[in-house]
Amino acid sequence: MKSVLIGSALAIVIFLWLNGFNIMPLIIAAALILALFYLMLGQGQMKLGSGGSSRDKNSKLNFDQIGGQDCAINELQEALQFVMQPEKIDHMGIRPLKGILLAGPPGTGKTLMARAAASFTSSAFIAASGSEFIEMYAGVGAKRIRQIFSSARKEAKRLNKKSAIIFIDELEVLAAKRGSHSGHMEYDQTLNQLLVEMDGMSQNKDPRILLIGATNRADLLDPAVLRPGRFDRQVQVDLPDRAGRAKILSIHTRNKPLDPAVNLDDVSRATFGFSGAHLESLANEAAILAMREDSPIIKQNHFREAIDKVMMGEKLDRQPSLSEMERISIHESGHALVCDFLQPGSVASLTIVPRGKALGFMRRSPQDDQYLYTYEELEQQIMTMLAGALAEELRFGSRSSGARNDFQQAWNVAREMISSGLSSLGVVSDDHIPVQTVYDEGKRIIAAAESKTRTLLEENKERLFNLAVCLSQQESLGRPSLEKILYA
Ligand code: ATP
Repeated sequence: MKSVLIGSALAIVIFLWLNGFNIMPLIIAAALILALFYLMLGQGQMKLGSGGSSRDKNSKLNFDQIGGQDCAINELQEALQFVMQPEKIDHMGIRPLKGILLAGPPGTGKTLMARAAASFTSSAFIAASGSEFIEMYAGVGAKRIRQIFSSARKEAKRLNKKSAIIFIDELEVLAAKRGSHSGHMEYDQTLNQLLVEMDGMSQNKDPRILLIGATNRADLLDPAVLRPGRFDRQVQVDLPDRAGRAKILSIHTRNKPLDPAVNLDDVSRATFGFSGAHLESLANEAAILAMREDSPIIKQNHFREAIDKVMMGEKLDRQPSLSEMERISIHESGHALVCDFLQPGSVASLTIVPRGKALGFMRRSPQDDQYLYTYEELEQQIMTMLAGALAEELRFGSRSSGARNDFQQAWNVAREMISSGLSSLGVVSDDHIPVQTVYDEGKRIIAAAESKTRTLLEENKERLFNLAVCLSQQESLGRPSLEKILYA
């Protein structure tokens, strides 16, 4: 049909030309119409590049290659039985599962879990991100939703699979509470289309489709998305604990030549708060550092430096002035002295080599994960944070702007003490406590910590000044030098 039309059009144009007509306006108009047509087609096309590449990768990925998420994986596998045992589900009269929501911080392995789910259930896999559905043009998002469902069905048929998994990352972009995008009905239309497709899923069972959504902000999702019959199951994918971090590190060092003396447990203890993505980057950075030194194997010190790099950023060439170096040295020495006196053995090293946004920093010794803190422990954290500025004051009679971030963190801890009912205000409600009351109590907590820190530093002034001099001369101090100066 298409070729008949094109052929007839060409024949008419040639006929007109042979009869002396000016066919130039006709050619220009046809070119314009064609360009417009392809432009609109392009807008409507779903960019399934991620899904396409994921199809190839998912065949290789399984749950063994995901570390530190045992609970989440168990929950997910349990939910996946719905896809794997359809006859049993039908027999029991159970409503099939349509959607699973993976919620958790960035880089914790949600995408990996969706891909592993596809190979676990032997399903076709199509992936897209919430932002790919949102366009300025009305109706494009809704069209893309329809398209992704039909692509999933086609892909399952092509691969001869009985089921398909559609993975939508950044679900909150596409499924935020309706009305939250003022004046932008396109968002609401796209979400409505998703709900319509989900409602239609139970009628169309060949192939079975399962939707897996991932989000960092489950609180932003429209309640209609989370109601029973839609994203029925929510699986929390949290930051890994110490054992989980060790497992993830072992996964990402499998293909790397490690020094047999490397202790990944120590590395995992020093990386509290790291996500799987951070740990993957850490293993990669350690290998890069080893390669830069021409070392054929990756050693513990490469991991140590890689932790600093992932936490603080790359070392900078920026060279502070001599007076600034002295100030930074006393500032970092203040942090180190107070931290180690309050918790002996807690400081691992100290440096004034600038890295990322920090002009210097103190590294703590690996500790076990801690989730609960007493008043005293939180106060000690505030004292360590204030110690940098107070040490500057003791040495030079003035503070500098370098303590801004320390003060911000000290305030955050004070606020946490108040919210947790640890302050002199007793149990409070965050929603009803007046701002001024929080401010006054925070000031009182910080002033008390400040006075204790000042006394500690004044009592150990000689040690503090010695430490600062050694640090400015050597730029970095490890635990042995630190102990010699602080406890000699
Ligand atoms: P986002 O919310 O930002 O989309 P995500 O939770 O989907 O992140 P992934 O894309 O799955 O995170 O992970 C990014 C990379 O981090 C992975 O390719 C993998 O190398 C590593 N990674 C993250 N979590 C884990 C884990 N639990 N086990 C092993 N590797 C992990």
